[in-house]
Amino acid sequence: MSFEQILGNDDLDGLPGGGLNIAHEAVDRHAKGRERDTVALRCIAKNGAVHDLTYAELGQNTDRFANVLRGLGVTKGERVFSLVGRSAELYTVALGTMKNGSIFCPLFSAFGPEPIHARLSIGGASVLVTTAALYVRKIAALRVTLPDLHHVLIIDDDAPPPGTESLPRLMRAASPDACIEATMPDDPALLHFTSGTTGAPKGAVHVHGAVVSHVLSARVALDLRPGDVYWCTADPGWVTGTSYGIIAPLVLGATVIVDEAEFDAARWYGILEAHKVNVWYTAPTAIRMLMKAGAEFAHGFDLSAVRFLASVGEPLNPEAVLWGREVLGHAFHDTWWQTETGAIMIANSADMAIKPGSMGHPLPGVTAGIVRRLQGGGVEEITTPDIVGELALRAGWPSMFRAYWGEAERYRKCFVDGWYLSGDLVRRDRDGYYWFIGRADDVIKSAGHLIGPFEVESALTEHPAVAEAGVIGKTDPVAMEVVKAFVTLKSGHAPSDALRRELLGFARQRLGAAVAPREIEFCADLPKTRSGKIMRRLLKARELGLLEGDTSSLETDG
Ligand code: ATP
Ligand code: MG
Repeated sequence: MSFEQILGNDDLDGLPGGGLNIAHEAVDRHAKGRERDTVALRCIAKNGAVHDLTYAELGQNTDRFANVLRGLGVTKGERVFSLVGRSAELYTVALGTMKNGSIFCPLFSAFGPEPIHARLSIGGASVLVTTAALYVRKIAALRVTLPDLHHVLIIDDDAPPPGTESLPRLMRAASPDACIEATMPDDPALLHFTSGTTGAPKGAVHVHGAVVSHVLSARVALDLRPGDVYWCTADPGWVTGTSYGIIAPLVLGATVIVDEAEFDAARWYGILEAHKVNVWYTAPTAIRMLMKAGAEFAHGFDLSAVRFLASVGEPLNPEAVLWGREVLGHAFHDTWWQTETGAIMIANSADMAIKPGSMGHPLPGVTAGIVRRLQGGGVEEITTPDIVGELALRAGWPSMFRAYWGEAERYRKCFVDGWYLSGDLVRRDRDGYYWFIGRADDVIKSAGHLIGPFEVESALTEHPAVAEAGVIGKTDPVAMEVVKAFVTLKSGHAPSDALRRELLGFARQRLGAAVAPREIEFCADLPKTRSGKIMRRLLKARELGLLEGDTSSLETDG
């Protein structure tokens, strides 16, 4: 569906004169319309306290924040960063920034000083919104090296640290009526850093026109409807937590659950039950943790309000899809996309049969292809079913990233012959379903075979003792690489040579000797990014005794 067509339907208004602003679509038109008293955000604090914000209230708060920025002289296109936990303020800052025509860049609040500094510096932040504690602990010492950072606004404190200003004080003084900046569809709205799974994170720039993809995909791939209670567990520091944790559900007039706390099986089931969540969007790592907690545990909760379950971020093992169906009453729908694509591109959408283990079909308006890069620089499209190649997308969909901030050459290299090249390897079956093989960097070449780590990991997680598996290629003088698996176990199972032998045999039976792991190592945890993705490149670097490269988004307790 084209941009013009979607603007003609009820989901989007547009601004007079051909303008488009995400914050108008997500907030203002509801704040002044039928949904004004509908709960927009239901914020659950770590201690369980619940605070609701209606669309009308969110409209006023975001107007105030836009006026605060205006009062500080912050203009269109300047970068406003946030470093705060999942609280109402984060959403106010996100949408108020876009109302002002400035570019919003959310950072995950658990980052350490270095990754924070790197991102503020790369993005040329002129405003940062954070808490007094985070500022003192993580930023104050490096502030002198950030000459463009003119304003640090502190959300929780009327006595802000030196060099910062109190946001509550500024908000009280600001008018609750703002005139929204008349942005155009191609004006930048968001700067999102990638997860850093394969290297140093890149800052992807997204425009206001991306909202067209957000809304369409949420309807088709998440079955999200106006009035739904909806929970996306991703932090807005990752693109999922913004595209589908803020923008899409608010544009559709849903009630968004915002949980300040991190994963806890009892808490999460409790939220699904107590708030009667209809649509739930989460990640494979969380699903695997719920599976680890067991079916019995899940059965202690009433999840009857749930209508649709979806997953993103990593390949979703078939085992997890089926577990959803058996234990939660609905299968998980896998969705594929990236920070660069801005919105879901491929999914097991609501209206089609799920093939467990497959990412599904391209969404309406998305043209996907499978290509092989040629020596001379071009690409060749592969149309034969079941041949592995690189997943490519025809450039030009509304939420396509428009730059890597400050890295023009790197951006240019992502596009060849009108295709955006994703860096992920996939195959397409005869029914048009796409199957994830692995990131191009993670694929294992062993004795003439191309082995995707996902296939091996999925086979291992079918064994009742295995919680998670991370698979890499280990250099081998004969086979080039051999498959090695790092495995964590479910509670009640302990590492032993007997179990190792059993798992090796189990995998060989399912995968065949050429693909099955040659070695299995038990570990307590797998290294993951902050967004919960297994970092295979770290497993590999450690195995080979190499430098670990950029670890700024590694999950640590710091
Ligand atoms: P970086 O680009 O910095 O290495 P990243 O690629 O992990 O990090 P994101 O943009 O957050 O950063 O993640 C997108 C990637 O996540 C995809 O390219 C793909 O490899 C993986 N991914 C996302 N969804 C799925 C899925 N449903 N199945 C398989 N892989 C997925
Ligand atoms: Mg990537």
